Amino acid sequence: MNFIFLGPPGAGKGTLAKEAAKFYNIPHISTGDIFRENIKNQTELGKKAKAIIDAGGLVSDEITIDLVKDRLSKDDTKNGYILDGFPRTIPQAEALEKFAKIDAAVNFDIEDEAVVDRLGGRVCCKDCGQMFHVKTMPPKVAGKCDKCGGELYTRDDDKPESIQNRLVVYRNSTAPLIDFYRNKNLLVDIDAKPAPEKVLEIFKQKFAK
Ligand code: ADP
Ligand code: ZN
Repeated sequence: MNFIFLGPPGAGKGTLAKEAAKFYNIPHISTGDIFRENIKNQTELGKKAKAIIDAGGLVSDEITIDLVKDRLSKDDTKNGYILDGFPRTIPQAEALEKFAKIDAAVNFDIEDEAVVDRLGGRVCCKDCGQMFHVKTMPPKVAGKCDKCGGELYTRDDDKPESIQNRLVVYRNSTAPLIDFYRNKNLLVDIDAKPAPEKVLEIFKQKFAK
C-alpha cells in the first residue's frame, strides 16, 4: 500500500507513521525528518530550509516536490511506503499524481486545542527523530531517547509562536487536501484524539493486512 498521512501538526502522525511503517515493513518517508537531517548536516538544502522551518512556514513546493520524487525513485519503495508530511499543499498533491499512485490518504483528525497541548510538551531525539511528550509519553530517563540513547530537545518550531503559525499554515494550505482526496475516494478519517497506541490499533483494523 502507498499511504499518505494527513493531519495537523501534533496529530501524532509522525509517531503513528513510524509504527505503521514497521507493521507493514515499508519505509516511512517524512519530509520534515529529511529537512531536519539536512539542517543537521548543514547541506545546501538544509541552509535554505532552516529559517523557514524554524518559523513554522513551508519550504517551497519546487524543492519539496523534487526531494520526494527522488526519494520515491529508490528501490525500497517498491512494496509500498508511508508519506508523512507530504503533500502539504494542493500543487504538491497535483505533482505527486504524476509520479506516484496513492492507495489511501489517512486523515488524522484532531482539534487545535489538543494540538497546542501536545506540541507544547513535545521533545524529539537529536539522533533518530523519535518523539516523546513530557506529560503523555515521557522517556524512561529524562532527556534521553528510549530507542537510541540520543539527547532529547525541543524543536524550534515547537515553540509557542511557531506552533500558532503552523496551525494557520495548516488550515490555509494543507487542510484543502482533505477534500482533494475525499473527491478521489481515497480519504480515510481516523480520530487522533486517543493515545497513540489506540490510534494505531484503529489504523490496523481499517487496513488489515
Ligand atoms: P509536523 O510535526 O508539523 O507535522 P514535520 O516534521 O512534518 O512537522 O515538518 C516540519 C517542517 O518541515 C514543516 O513545518 C515545514 O516547514 C517543513 N516541511 C515538511 N514537509 C513539508 C512539505 N511537504 N512542504 C513544505 N514544507 C514542509
Ligand atoms: Zn533516538
